Amino acid sequence: MCSYSEQDYKLALEESFNFSSFKSEEQKIATECIASEKYKNIIISMATQSGKSLCYQLPRTALQRSGVVLVISPNISLITNQVAYLSDLRIPVTSLTGITPRLVRRDLIDRLEDSKANPYQFLYLTPEMLIKGSESIRFLIETMMADGDISLIVMDDAHMIIDTGIDFRHCFSEMRTIRKMFPDIPWVALTTASLESIKMIGKALNMEDPKIIKGPSTRKNIFYDVRKIPVNSSIKELIEDLIESDKKQEKHVTKKIYDSGIIYCQMNQEADRIAEELCESGISSESFYGTKNECNLILKNWKDGKFPVLVATEQSFGLGINRNPLKYVVHMTSPKNMRAFYQQSGRIDTSPGYSRLVYQRNGFVTKEMKEYATHTGCRHQYIANFFGDEENEPCGNNCDNCVTKERLDRKGKSSDGSKSLEVKRKSF
Ligand SMILES: [Zn+2]
Repeated sequence: MCSYSEQDYKLALEESFNFSSFKSEEQKIATECIASEKYKNIIISMATQSGKSLCYQLPRTALQRSGVVLVISPNISLITNQVAYLSDLRIPVTSLTGITPRLVRRDLIDRLEDSKANPYQFLYLTPEMLIKGSESIRFLIETMMADGDISLIVMDDAHMIIDTGIDFRHCFSEMRTIRKMFPDIPWVALTTASLESIKMIGKALNMEDPKIIKGPSTRKNIFYDVRKIPVNSSIKELIEDLIESDKKQEKHVTKKIYDSGIIYCQMNQEADRIAEELCESGISSESFYGTKNECNLILKNWKDGKFPVLVATEQSFGLGINRNPLKYVVHMTSPKNMRAFYQQSGRIDTSPGYSRLVYQRNGFVTKEMKEYATHTGCRHQYIANFFGDEENEPCGNNCDNCVTKERLDRKGKSSDGSKSLEVKRKSF
């Protein structure tokens, strides 16, 4: 077992990652748990964009843990981002995914096979590569495990095992088989989930008595609202309306609100129609869905800032859409469930950022989303409840329902003839 001082962590954060401190107490605790080598099974549940990856990256990179950290992630875009991020920090990292060219793949396997020559600290792998990839990859991973070259296995987006495709589940069950063969290698599952789901994940991954670290799910930078709109409403008006609501909140507003946004809808034709309508009204946008031929180019151009608004179908989620900064996410149709909604709006990384759910009567896919849309209390609180957070207070002024309540309270006070209530706004 290893123990490190506050000073060790401070130095590690500064020297390897250019951070002056941990982002949150949960991030610190999770990192310490992994670094301590005390636990064989750890499940870390933290909000999206809260720095979960650092928890396993720091112990390997800055605290001199040996061996390769194997990260299984279903999201190629996330893998690409992480590889680029670590490479920028001069941390030896590589990946094997469906987009790795065959020759590069062969060369990588050769390097990884020779533990003495292997220069990498992190290996990112898609579940598909492990299961449907070549025999040589499976053999490589098993050999590395048998030789003690893999010091930690990280399962990213671990909730996928309980709520998405059969392929992925199949892969996880394969991982379980591998796990049985090498029970001494510690596992970490990363997710954002309720306690109930965390337990299900642990069970599905065959984790015995896992150490659970659960941080708050609240995303304080996001303003949540829900709009009921008439059929055939103009999408441009809807975005302008977003700016209007921003003005009402007396926040700094610039044209930049157009700079980065995702509009989610369900059907490909709908995505085309919305993108076209936005272009006609002077807001440059493109539709994006998996089956579109020029898909990669569209995503690249959007990420490079060549146009501001991406109109995506919910199915594009698997393709991984990330762009920094991302100011707003508008759901034109209800996502399939709260988790999908939370994940998709969780891509927003500006402060303030905006998440809007738009709906027409009877436009709900699930009861879960209808409940969120028609909820009259604080939306942050609703989300926190959904994920089973212990601390759970109304946001006060960071969602439509709280703002309305606050306005009504103020009005009530003024009409009583009492002193008007000065509303303190949160500074972001
Ligand atoms: Zn609220």
